[in-house]
Amino acid sequence: MLEGMKILCVLYDDPVTGYPATYARDDLPALPGYPGGQTLPTPSSVDFTPGHLLGSVSGELGLRAFLEAAGHELVVTSDKESEEFERHLADADVVISQPFWPAYLTADRIARAPRLKLAVTAGIGSDHVDLDAAIAHGVTVAEVTYCNSISVAEHVVMSILNLVRNFVPSHQTVLNGGWNIADCVARSYDVEGMHIGTVAAGRIGLAVLKRLAPFDVHLHYTDRHRLRREVEQELGLTFHTSAADMVPHCDVVTVNAPLHPETEGLFDDSLIGSMKRGAYLINTARARIADRDAVVRALQSGRLAGYAGDVWFPQPAPADHPWRTMPHHGMTPHISGSSLSAQARYAAGTREILESFFAGTPIRDEYLIVDGGKLAGTGAHSYAVRG
Ligand code: NDP
Repeated sequence: MLEGMKILCVLYDDPVTGYPATYARDDLPALPGYPGGQTLPTPSSVDFTPGHLLGSVSGELGLRAFLEAAGHELVVTSDKESEEFERHLADADVVISQPFWPAYLTADRIARAPRLKLAVTAGIGSDHVDLDAAIAHGVTVAEVTYCNSISVAEHVVMSILNLVRNFVPSHQTVLNGGWNIADCVARSYDVEGMHIGTVAAGRIGLAVLKRLAPFDVHLHYTDRHRLRREVEQELGLTFHTSAADMVPHCDVVTVNAPLHPETEGLFDDSLIGSMKRGAYLINTARARIADRDAVVRALQSGRLAGYAGDVWFPQPAPADHPWRTMPHHGMTPHISGSSLSAQARYAAGTREILESFFAGTPIRDEYLIVDGGKLAGTGAHSYAVRG
């Protein structure tokens, strides 16, 4: 059993009004497991109340009592670019952060962290860690696979409806005291009958397809691995061998692939230019899968009728990031995978990973991205490295 470890945990700030004393709801629904049979996180116990805010600094992912009782040191900060962070990194054994507020573990930083053994993503998507450097330095990278996949899928469906039906500007009309219906409906359509395609049909992408099927739309997907024939038939899916082949057929495209060398910059001027005029693009995967300025140009020219998502680069996005002010967008800060429901799962999953790590027992294969100096588990299936 490992003892005396230093755990550096980077979390987002508390609400501006302070850490909540009460919540809008009293409990969370009990889930039997994840779709497909993967079990929910299985830590020995948890010291937090599911449904409470765990992802901000005062929530501490519910880890302090557990870590201190086991003789470890926990440092929690939201300040991920400061000298203080660098000082703690220099002797940290474990770094934990959420993709919503990522501690960027670049190759330089990993080189300056000689004791680092484990980088935990409290969430899904470990592209904020330089995986090549983690491989080279023997750092294990693990994430809480599936913890917020359904949370994101719900956000994707919401974003599609928001954009196509022109919800946000119509809501703004109400806030402004207005009532010009023509202003609201001049860009409002039905989703029914549209062609909707996902780039990647993994946990999120497939959940999006399943949720959209009852809308009587035509569903398309592309992925490195093809889904089972029964799934394709049940949902009426059209498979395409590449994003380039799929997007010209779609009214709506949603991106649900990890960011890695194969997907970085995928939606550039050329690919977006091949989409139908007036198509919608929803990207809750990672910002750098799309070319920032190509998206702005396409919204200005009308090639895209709307763009939505919650992922930006860098995070937090600077005040002058062009996606804040581009036309016809439905952007939020990076929230889709950090609902209170999701937080309870990834806080428990983080504890499960730490319990395995301290005990020297294997971390679940599905949580592993890098282990033993190579891509492993989910990482080996879904990621690529520069090599
Ligand atoms: P999964 O690992 O279940 O699915 C990822 C899928 O992407 C896999 O099916 C994989 O294919 C596919 N894929 C990888 N590379 C390509 C490629 N070049 N072209 C097409 N498909 C590809 O992950 P999730 O669905 O749970 O999550 C996906 C991503 O969503 C995460 O990596 C993360 O970046 C993002 N995310 C965002 C969140 C948010 O809050 N906005 C929260 C959670 C995740 P295969 O395995 O068949 O090779």
